[in-house]
Amino acid sequence: MDDLWTRAIERLRPHMTPEIFDTWFGVLRCERADAKEVVVRVPNPFFEDILRSYESTLREALQQEASLPAPPRLRWKVDPSLQQAFDEPEPPAPVRRSEPSAAPPHRGGTSSPPDALHPRYTFESFVVGPSNQLAHAASLAVAEAPGGRHNPLFLYGGVGLGKTHLMNAIGQRIRKRAPNARILYVSAERFTNEFVRALQHRRIEAFHRRYREQCDVLLLDDVQFLASKEQTQEEFFHTFNALYHADRQVVVSSDLEPARIAGLQERLISRFQSGLVADIQPPELDTRIAILRAKAALEGVDLDEGVAEAIARRIRSNVRALEGTLTRLLVRAQLLGRPLEAAWVCERLDEEGASASGETPRLRIEAVQRAVATHFGLRVADLRARNRARHVTLARQVAMYLCRRRAGASLPEIGRRFGRDHTTVLHAERRIAKLAKVEPDVRETLLALERKLDGRGG
Ligand code: ADP
Ligand code: MG
Repeated sequence: MDDLWTRAIERLRPHMTPEIFDTWFGVLRCERADAKEVVVRVPNPFFEDILRSYESTLREALQQEASLPAPPRLRWKVDPSLQQAFDEPEPPAPVRRSEPSAAPPHRGGTSSPPDALHPRYTFESFVVGPSNQLAHAASLAVAEAPGGRHNPLFLYGGVGLGKTHLMNAIGQRIRKRAPNARILYVSAERFTNEFVRALQHRRIEAFHRRYREQCDVLLLDDVQFLASKEQTQEEFFHTFNALYHADRQVVVSSDLEPARIAGLQERLISRFQSGLVADIQPPELDTRIAILRAKAALEGVDLDEGVAEAIARRIRSNVRALEGTLTRLLVRAQLLGRPLEAAWVCERLDEEGASASGETPRLRIEAVQRAVATHFGLRVADLRARNRARHVTLARQVAMYLCRRRAGASLPEIGRRFGRDHTTVLHAERRIAKLAKVEPDVRETLLALERKLDGRGG
């Protein structure tokens, strides 16, 4: 039963930094598990607060690992004896995955360095258009005069629209002008993490010093993560006040404007509203084209105007998706040894997206399943069955991965066609993407299948 629990939490591991995983999941103990309920012991009540954000994902993972008809309930039980295990001296540092911005895990939590600024996220590399003009101008103003008129600055907008980019740009510009400025860039998730650990290790004074005294500029990313985390919000409120009254700059980002973040305390909302609130909207066509060309230039590629437009017309809502599509097409063209031409790009994108070609996502999923099954010497039914043999699992994950790339179908839709749920598909996609980087065999397989699905033999 501990085994079931272990397998369930392992599914979450790829979705977070090792530090966060170890902090929140490493110390948990499964007390008992049956089809209806799983009881897990936690060291102290703070854990419940945090683990609630992961609850639905965990329940689904448990359901799948145990092949249950419905997700079991999860009950958290405080067990102070776990706290001791938690307080034990530092274990040897675990082997870490290559994550550029992640700091090494530090059990004390208060003296670890902040998230490093991302060197590529600068004002120079940020393309300005009507959709992000206000946020850009506000960020620039703050970078020129931190702690001045625009305090706090609150940036909000949908996923992948450049919030993190702008916050990093502010940090870098300030650092350039004042190399000794103490700039802290942290995600709200990490702030929470450090705060709770500081409490557990009775190092709250050090935490306060770090965030309230030794900080000239605080850049807090994705503040919506604090929703419903009462104690952390309280802490952040006091952090904010201390900085604000000392004329230190605070910049906060979120996916929604302050008043629309459910579970955010009124007093924080009003603090945020008292400064400058700037939104970022999805970019217009011309901006999308400019972003693509700038991105290609960074890669040393001179992107044809027609190609940029072909991509920009199809991918509308998210800059990250725009960049991802460009990268994918560049890699594909390179692998196939052909130039990136507008006609070819349009074909590829139409094939992938649910557009002109008359093919439905369902038919595309089936085509992928047939091709993968044949390639691995299996039947399509094997991909949809419960079979967990290694070979079959790999084939299934490859098929899910390719569906994600090509089918233009939603995660749940793909999941349904494999008799699984969307988290399984997500997990498969990440696993294969990772394997493709390190295993030439897997890379070859993907290439051969892509060629076949492109109707180019193979
Ligand atoms: P968010 O934090 O809003 O989810 P990010 O800042 O992480 O989004 O942006 C996602 C990706 O898109 C990053 O690689 C970023 O550099 C890029 N990006 C977003 N907006 C722009 C822009 N206006 N110009 C250039 N790159 C952009
Ligand atoms: Mg972000």
